[in-house]
Amino acid sequence: PIVIFWFRRDLRLDDNAALYHALKSGYRVMPVFIFDTDILKQFETPENAQVEFIHQQLQILQKELGHCGSSLKTGHSTPAVFFENLCKEHTIKAVYANEDYELSARERDADIESLLKEKDIDFLSFKDQVIFSKDDIVKDDRTPYTVFTPYSKRWKQHLQPGYLESFDNRDLFCNFYQYKSDIIPSLSDLGFSKKRGISFPPMEFNGDLIRNYTQQRDYPSIEGTSRLGIHLRFGTISIRQLVAKAQAVNETFLNELIWREFYHAITWHFPHICKGQAFKPQYDEIVWRNDETEFKAWSEGKTGYPIVDAGMRQLNDTGFMHNRVRMITASFLIKHLLIDWRWGEAYFANKLLDFDFAANNGGWQWASSSGCDAVPYFRIFNPQLQTEKFDKHLEYIKKWIPDFDPLNYIPPIVNHESARKRALETYSNALKK
Ligand code: FAD
Repeated sequence: PIVIFWFRRDLRLDDNAALYHALKSGYRVMPVFIFDTDILKQFETPENAQVEFIHQQLQILQKELGHCGSSLKTGHSTPAVFFENLCKEHTIKAVYANEDYELSARERDADIESLLKEKDIDFLSFKDQVIFSKDDIVKDDRTPYTVFTPYSKRWKQHLQPGYLESFDNRDLFCNFYQYKSDIIPSLSDLGFSKKRGISFPPMEFNGDLIRNYTQQRDYPSIEGTSRLGIHLRFGTISIRQLVAKAQAVNETFLNELIWREFYHAITWHFPHICKGQAFKPQYDEIVWRNDETEFKAWSEGKTGYPIVDAGMRQLNDTGFMHNRVRMITASFLIKHLLIDWRWGEAYFANKLLDFDFAANNGGWQWASSSGCDAVPYFRIFNPQLQTEKFDKHLEYIKKWIPDFDPLNYIPPIVNHESARKRALETYSNALKK
């Protein structure tokens, strides 16, 4: 008999909780990855940078496994079909995986667990992608936190060195199932093609950059943030190792990693947000304008507001947008144009290299004021003032709009003052109900 290790949001061999436990199980470990057709069919375009990143990372894993005399087994089907077939080929004792907290992933795992149970196979899952999950950080009365500051305080109080210990499994690699290389389907076999001009940020912790993070992170013209989002999303970096470094170098940066855990905890405790609902239900009363022409202008970076347009062009060109500008562009779509935040959420989901449901939904619901610990609805970013504060010399704007001429730019699609008034009225009418 063998055991299976199922890669999902944890595409690395080092310091991987479930893989460590599988390698210590006393059985040979077959590592598998499934290109889940239930997930792939949701993509709107045949070019998707996240699929490309996964594909690239699997090839790296394949090489590393080759050095251990093993290979990655990949599937291209639903997980249920994959495991049905695998069970016909092998005697399997257990399937090991790291926990995933999104609703659809939880439902998938519950289905697989019961399918395996019928065959007398254990499904064993472990915490790996966060330091604290589920009910680890809750209030004294065991209810979840919905405000970040007390959550982060409790998170820090709870943190003991043991939580950051690595799952050191290098000496266990001889326990991988030994067989010759399996073939990973090509991107085109999967129905995808390469996205032009996209490059993935390196997986490195730049100590100097993180030391200056507090002073620099808010200025979009400076390369002042880590760009580790995609690596955290797919687990190509270990959160334990990253938190240990953050703790030693910069508290502000550590707080951002705690925001990530906060939104994951919110997703776990409040699964209604995974069904397209506002965190605060009364915000679903808002009557959106949803003008498709204006949405198109926003998505193409042609609103006539240079900071908004620069942000959207950065996103469209590179798959990345600076956090400050994510807040400005999101606020503009929702409040200036009164377009449903879910349209923007979906647009970002399709474009961002670091797209992660919990953080993206958290960011959008923050901007729409419908989220937990969100910006109050009457606080409406003024793109001009944001520019004066965070891009005073227009360096960021000129980088993404190279022919920018302030005296001869696209006329604004809405007037700031009247859009602001309209948003305030719309929100207060909805919240009165
Ligand atoms: P750094 O500033 O170097 O931060 C390090 C890491 O901390 C990030 O990679 C991320 O994992 C985490 N982090 C930082 N800020 C936040 C935050 N506010 N919420 C949750 N985690 C955070 N982040 C995503 O990871 N995926 C998304 O899909 C996403 N969508 C967003 C949408 C909107 C509308 C907004 C306002 C924010 C969104 N964010 C998202 C949060 C934040 O903008 C990005 O995490 C950050 O810009 C990524 O760049 P970085 O890796 O250089 O981050």
